[in-house]
Amino acid sequence: MPHALVIGAGIGGLATSLRLRKKGYRVTVLEVNDYPGGKLHAIEQDGYRFDLGPSLFTMPHLVTELFALYQEDFPTYFQYSKKQIVCNYFWEDGHRFSVASDIEKFIKDASESFNEPPQKIKSYLNRNREKYDLTAALFLEKSLHKLSTYLSKQTIKSILQIGKLHLNVTLDSVNKQYFRNQKLVQLFNRYATYNGSSPYKTPGIMSMIPHLEMHYGTYFPKGGMHSISLSLYEFAKQKGVSFKFGHPVENIIVKNKKAIGVLSKGVAHKADIVVSNMDVYPTYKKLLKDQPYPKKTLEQERSSSALIFYWGISKEFPQLDLHNILFTDSYPDEFQALFDQKTLYTDPTIYINITSKEEVRDAPEGHENWFVMINAPGNYGQDWRELKQVARKNIVSKINRILKTNIEEFITTEHILDPVGIESSTSSFRGALYGAASNDKFAAFVRHANFSKSIENLYFCGGSVHPGGGIPLCLLSAKIVSDLVPNPIPNA
Ligand code: FAD
Repeated sequence: MPHALVIGAGIGGLATSLRLRKKGYRVTVLEVNDYPGGKLHAIEQDGYRFDLGPSLFTMPHLVTELFALYQEDFPTYFQYSKKQIVCNYFWEDGHRFSVASDIEKFIKDASESFNEPPQKIKSYLNRNREKYDLTAALFLEKSLHKLSTYLSKQTIKSILQIGKLHLNVTLDSVNKQYFRNQKLVQLFNRYATYNGSSPYKTPGIMSMIPHLEMHYGTYFPKGGMHSISLSLYEFAKQKGVSFKFGHPVENIIVKNKKAIGVLSKGVAHKADIVVSNMDVYPTYKKLLKDQPYPKKTLEQERSSSALIFYWGISKEFPQLDLHNILFTDSYPDEFQALFDQKTLYTDPTIYINITSKEEVRDAPEGHENWFVMINAPGNYGQDWRELKQVARKNIVSKINRILKTNIEEFITTEHILDPVGIESSTSSFRGALYGAASNDKFAAFVRHANFSKSIENLYFCGGSVHPGGGIPLCLLSAKIVSDLVPNPIPNA
């Protein structure tokens, strides 16, 4: 049976391992950490459980189809429930808004709350759907780097309607074309952060992101986000994928322009194909040192990173739900600080995620487990000690102002993750959450392909390559890799 070697057990690597195993490969995953999941990991501290990375889960079918590949019933391994409230938004002036998952209700509520005509909101959402329908098959589900992708009827249809995609204007200007109310513009601008970009730079096509959330809904996996990576890991093991933890890959062995294996702990592991789930930047800079590298791709601007405070809170806040946003008064200044000045903004938008609202075991009775995150620039060697101290003060004071509390009184335990920690625990260049940023209309074309153009049998999956970062896109990258990899020759 031919052998496939996957470097990294992030969500992209786990999904790829399952797909290649199903295709008939013997699959080995080499992971430097002593746990699977990469960014999708969790910790327990003083009676609280915290998901360390992703908190928002949409398009669950991309997870469950991995169980279906093996004709298995997914609830045996993985369960989730739909959220009725997508997110609670809070502004400094006391304005509050809850996004309902029911679209008609959302339109009615938003029209009343932001004083915008319901037809305007409806037509905005319809246009977002149209953008998704026109481009998903081209941009998300296939390799952008194969001629066959461009010869399909769907691609030709998309190209003929390119004007509808708002590629030449920013997301912010599209949102302003539709809405006068600056709070509603801000709410829709926030979707740029779903791929670590700025709404003042990313093209208007990104308004398809709210469509994904509104059309597919948001979900909570039973046991928390960590159960996504854990259940795929357990399932992959059961299907015969072999995992080697504590195995850093030091080199991809290339002979006659073909990947023939990897070196880990000084030992050569032979393979017929190699798939890197490691960030593409260190894959080239560390594992392929002697090979030519795609300069433009590696120099692409990186997505934002994050600073997260994980707090055990000895109080319950009924006004909060699973996802909550406390908005800054000046969104343009926040993004300028992040992307132009590469620093933290003094009045940051704060995201509070509380999984104990869904999973009572995540915090002691009467307590909550807060994941308090602000967007951060990538790690460019800033003084993070100083930045974190100032940010903590700014966060505490904003939470106190908006929620009318004294939050310090209730913090019983704390863990902190910053861009340096994200970079060191997952090898993500500069601690980027989503690989390259989409701050320019050509970003999708510059992002690395799911295969190497110069080294045969070498493939790439995960958030730093096509189609991009975030759980759904990482899962799609695994699907594209599996489509590109040749079917094994029987008895080879
Ligand atoms: P990673 O998770 O980065 O895993 C790569 C793996 O490769 C790691 O396990 C690493 O240890 C391993 N590795 C690296 N180098 C080597 C080597 N040399 N040898 C062996 N192994 C190696 N996405 C969402 O969809 N929703 C969200 O709400 C969301 N929020 C986020 C919040 C935070 C704080 C973070 C950090 C990320 C968030 N994301 C979110 C993004 C999402 O987590 C990522 O896009 C996704 O998990 C990346 O998966 P991946 O497969 O690319 O690789």
